[in-house]
Amino acid sequence: MGFQGIKLKGEEEIKLIKKSSLLVGKTLAEVARYIKPGITTLELDRIAEEYIRDHDAIPGFKGYEGFPGTLCVSVNEQVVHGIPGKRVLKEGDIVSIDCGVIQNGFYGDSAYTFAVGEVSDRKIALMKRTKESLYKGIEMAVAGKRVGDIGYAVQHHVEQSGYSIVRDLVGHGIGKHLHEKPEIPNYGKRGSGMKLIEGMTICIEPMINMGTRVVVMEKDGWTIRTADKKPSAHFEHAVVIRKEKIEILSTFEYIEEVLNN
Ligand code: MG
Ligand code: MG
Repeated sequence: MGFQGIKLKGEEEIKLIKKSSLLVGKTLAEVARYIKPGITTLELDRIAEEYIRDHDAIPGFKGYEGFPGTLCVSVNEQVVHGIPGKRVLKEGDIVSIDCGVIQNGFYGDSAYTFAVGEVSDRKIALMKRTKESLYKGIEMAVAGKRVGDIGYAVQHHVEQSGYSIVRDLVGHGIGKHLHEKPEIPNYGKRGSGMKLIEGMTICIEPMINMGTRVVVMEKDGWTIRTADKKPSAHFEHAVVIRKEKIEILSTFEYIEEVLNN
């Protein structure tokens, strides 16, 4: 079934996207065990790749448009698409980890921002607000609402605190492809944009900056960082559009079990 170029999913397909998305959540939880001062971002990437392959799945980002990693690992002022490498995490960093897998032909995609050791209150507040804004957006992800309702909800929550929203990168549909239509911006006007239809599967992923919303690409051709080098946070869930009901397909449950222990 299709609608304006959007692939609407049936229950079997939704089940498979959920399965892949849960594996992403478990992979991020496995990675979370190792997030400590002294580890390199490449070591985290290896842990994720091994975990995904051990669970009969394939890293979804590796090779995607030539991306070399299993994870996107973005530290402090890096917003998204950081390439895993020699960078060593240090006390006080925040690190955004985005992960995708393919299993049974369907993608899962989710992201979480972690504190490395003791982190400043300002960074904690940024992470907290970003995660909250994701859930504000998700509250609007029901049939009959519009894409602009999601963006508005995220934007309203974030801008109240004086943070800014990255506009150059957006959320997306998900399914047999990592990035499907429609685009899901993290800003917008209430009641505007495409109507949300039952069976749409989308990723909502606010990228929130402490300072300017302007971002630049680093010389590696992938990493997006804030222009003012102030920190940024990123959280992402995959959700399915239902009638009168919110349903999140990915989960932070496994991650937060690790973090709270
Ligand atoms: Mg992602
Ligand atoms: Mg995504």
